[in-house]
Amino acid sequence: MEELVSRSPADPSDEVGRFAVAGESEIEAAVARARRAFPAWRDAGLEARTRVLRRFAEAARAAADEIARLVAREVGKALWDARSEAALLAPKVEVTLDEGMRLVAPLEAGAGARASYEPRGVLAVLGPFNFPAHLPNGHIVPALATGNAVVFKPSELAPAVGARMLELWRGAGLPPGALELVQGGAATGRALALHPDVDGVLFTGSWAVGRALAEAALDQPGKLLALEMGGSNALVVLADADLDLAASEAALSIAATTGQRCSCAGRLFVEAPALDAFQEKLVRVLRGLRVGPPLEPGVFMGPLVSHRAWDSLARYRDLAREAGGERVLLARPDLPPPFAGAGLVRFARAVQTHPYQRDEIFGPEAALYPVSDLEEAIAAVNDSDYGLVASVLTRERKHFEHCVGRIRTGLLNWNRATVGASGRLPFGGARRSGNDRPAGVTSTLYCTWPQARLEGPGAFDPGSLPPGMPRP
Ligand code: NAD
Repeated sequence: MEELVSRSPADPSDEVGRFAVAGESEIEAAVARARRAFPAWRDAGLEARTRVLRRFAEAARAAADEIARLVAREVGKALWDARSEAALLAPKVEVTLDEGMRLVAPLEAGAGARASYEPRGVLAVLGPFNFPAHLPNGHIVPALATGNAVVFKPSELAPAVGARMLELWRGAGLPPGALELVQGGAATGRALALHPDVDGVLFTGSWAVGRALAEAALDQPGKLLALEMGGSNALVVLADADLDLAASEAALSIAATTGQRCSCAGRLFVEAPALDAFQEKLVRVLRGLRVGPPLEPGVFMGPLVSHRAWDSLARYRDLAREAGGERVLLARPDLPPPFAGAGLVRFARAVQTHPYQRDEIFGPEAALYPVSDLEEAIAAVNDSDYGLVASVLTRERKHFEHCVGRIRTGLLNWNRATVGASGRLPFGGARRSGNDRPAGVTSTLYCTWPQARLEGPGAFDPGSLPPGMPRP
């Protein structure tokens, strides 16, 4: 049987675990178990499900530090960062039960007209490597809360974190079958997603894979696809901004999780009079970021997740000059792969035509562009194939408010980094970033389908007959 060997990107001699890859028969069996478990889990009712979810939340809170260390080891995320991730698991339960379920509460329209939101059935959750606990959890919790059964496939780069999540759920008393786990990469993910007994696919990952899934599922129109995909996010710095704040928030946006967040910023549009001063401050911060083993105290960023990710970053970095940019920073070129320092490239004009400028690079790398005013900045932000996050740094609220609805991103921040989001709000993006089924608090919506019901009088009323219709 094929095996996944999980090794720490920071230290290849550190084997995190070995996991059997699920082939067709294992996927078949997992989906069948979930299908069998679904009716009882649905019919158990919200109160009974809530008890299990709350026990999971308690267990996740108690295990937060251990999970953080496992995340740090398995995907190379710095410990502070992994701790923030692990701390999100329990609150997702609270937000789902308190607010998410309110969005799918029964509708009463009077006179026997009502609607209810029903669970879809069996949902596949496909997780990414960069938030291997929090993002699958962001789908699993609302899916289970609304009464679905789930088959979860973690990223092939984070199988141990996925396995640990399953243990927490089982320990919380979740009935067997309500959550199944299959391990593997693209082939397993594809076979699971396309299984005819899977009613929906809750996917977090790249545009390329999301696109492939959407195409492959064209002949299964009843299959719900919730696609949370990539970003090519932007930060706008107006000349009146606090430049220390702007530089520090920009550095965080570029380099948090070693640039491997869907919300990381790779495009910085700065009003021309502030550009040199901003660049100087930003370079100082980026150059000083501490890169090192993720579990070492004081480290800001760990390695990239793999040598493959490092090679991809290096290839993009090689393209910066061809794209017309001038490199102003390549921090820590002495580091051995897959460790990488931050990089910054400056362009003379806000024209974005080259793949270096348009793709999601997924590493600590950003491009700096001058803009003449806010209107040019808005146009430049929108000139993207993605539409996940933008941040605007300005002291003037009215400048920020002017961007609302004009910048077409699912998340728009004022005077703060592009990274970091509220679990009490929707989380999703436009164009290649998503398919208008935002996660976050609204995730209960895509886990359910509404059924409208009208009630008749129960007894025949001749007065209600339309003209020309005889009595029975
Ligand atoms: P990925 O697309 O490579 O993989 C995501 C998941 O899909 C993994 O479980 C993988 O095994 C599976 N997969 C791969 N090929 C598949 C196929 N052909 N069919 C079915 N499943 C397949 O993404 P990744 O590298 O793990 O994560 C990084 C990407 O995720 C970035 O693009 C990032 O922006 C995005 N992301 C988006 C969000 C969001 O909320 N919008 C959050 C985090 C990450």
